[in-house]
Amino acid sequence: MFLFSGLSALRAAYRVIFAKVFDAAKPLSAMASSKRKIAHPKAALQRLLPFNHEGKYFDLKTIFSRLNAQYFRRTPLRGYTIEWGRRRKLAPKEYFVFGTIQEEDRIIRIHPRLDAAFVPTWFLEYVIYHEMLHSVVPDEIGPTGRRRVHTAEFDRREREFYFYRRARRWEEENLARFLR
Ligand SMILES: [Zn+2]
Repeated sequence: MFLFSGLSALRAAYRVIFAKVFDAAKPLSAMASSKRKIAHPKAALQRLLPFNHEGKYFDLKTIFSRLNAQYFRRTPLRGYTIEWGRRRKLAPKEYFVFGTIQEEDRIIRIHPRLDAAFVPTWFLEYVIYHEMLHSVVPDEIGPTGRRRVHTAEFDRREREFYFYRRARRWEEENLARFLR
């Protein structure tokens, strides 16, 4: 794990929680997905934009394609859908899930609060890059039998992102803006 100097113990503790939650969304079965759709039949009507990847400030599909060409040229991600997650009435208080990937369904979801004017493009790119990386870096089983997704190889690849340090710092400094 990479921590910036000056990071408080509290923030470090948060970081661990965040790292876990970042990948909390394990593949749901197709049935679970359709059940969820049935449970929220009005969700589609509430959308103002025609495509789920279009936001007010960012088009996720454009960024995904750019990252795919730039960082995944040898093993491009194919058949993936990227979309903004649903807006929820209540913002989380304890932690924030910027993005998730469901590899079974090949869906990357990005939290809609990142579709904001104060979010730098390179930070959103970093979040998407992180999720895309999960599709190409294999998980590992640790000595205790626990599955690890943020492996040493994952960390190494993550640091290849052009604004990695800047993005991590921005995340630490701006997290409070996403929590209420
Ligand atoms: Zn992750």
